[in-house]
Amino acid sequence: MQVCRSISDIRAAIAGFRAAGDTVGLVTTMGALHAGHMALVMAAKTAHARVVATIFVNPTQFGDPKDLASYPRTEDADLAMLRDAGVDAVLIPDAREIYPESDETIVETTRLANVLHGLVRPGHYRGVATVVTKLFNITQPDAAYFGEKDYQQLQVIKRMARDLHMPLDIVGIPTVREPDGLAMSSRNVRLTEDDRNAAVVLSRALDKAQTEAGRGVPIDRIDQALRTTINAEPRARLRAVDIVEPATLAPATGLMKGPIAIMLSVEFGPSDNPVMLIDQREITP
Ligand code: AMP
Repeated sequence: MQVCRSISDIRAAIAGFRAAGDTVGLVTTMGALHAGHMALVMAAKTAHARVVATIFVNPTQFGDPKDLASYPRTEDADLAMLRDAGVDAVLIPDAREIYPESDETIVETTRLANVLHGLVRPGHYRGVATVVTKLFNITQPDAAYFGEKDYQQLQVIKRMARDLHMPLDIVGIPTVREPDGLAMSSRNVRLTEDDRNAAVVLSRALDKAQTEAGRGVPIDRIDQALRTTINAEPRARLRAVDIVEPATLAPATGLMKGPIAIMLSVEFGPSDNPVMLIDQREITP
């Protein structure tokens, strides 16, 4: 596995893959890798001769400097996991190279970035869309793989790639979970043991929503069931329940006619430096 710390190095590595006639799949990450990231790598490996990964804790998508500072960084373990998974090259860039001095160009999906989580975290999806565009331009892959766990992010990136005619496929991968149902996340390591145990409430609430949907319950009662389940866990602070139409993220109301997506944001830990967990599930009537 080639470990590249500059744009010119990763470009040289990928030029070598292209010269051999190989296709390239890309997996972008912020490091602190776990089995969820590896599911993306495996999907990329199945479809492409070469897999390129990136590890970059992108400063422009963090609103709170404390959240950025406390984001876990585990580079040695990450490199070992990527090597074991058969990744061909990894880019670990310096923020100063990704964001050249006095840069002024941003990418923003104007509607999708400013609903739901985008309202709670202003500028977050602009930071994501901008850095993902840069990483696409640097690596020029045939396809890029993203987790469905970050549901709004996946929709933002699909829309951006479509609108800007980016010549690659965007592939969504189902959420990988711990045995008790907690969605794997780099943030989980910041939970205390008690909060880690309590955090199973997110997936339990989503399971409950599917059960209610199967009984033909209207969407406002599904919303109520989600809130009741999460509020019953004293360690959890519910920040958002969003029930939306899958691709447009427009609010879903009334009786379910087809699949709907539920997106949850729940906080744990100290209120001055909380751990924000998200989870999502598409449920069917
Ligand atoms: P992150 O390092 O958190 O920015 O995540 C990098 C990529 O991995 C994103 O596309 C995430 O959606 C995806 N990802 C993170 N956690 C999971 C998971 N539990 N299952 C599947 N994909 C995931």
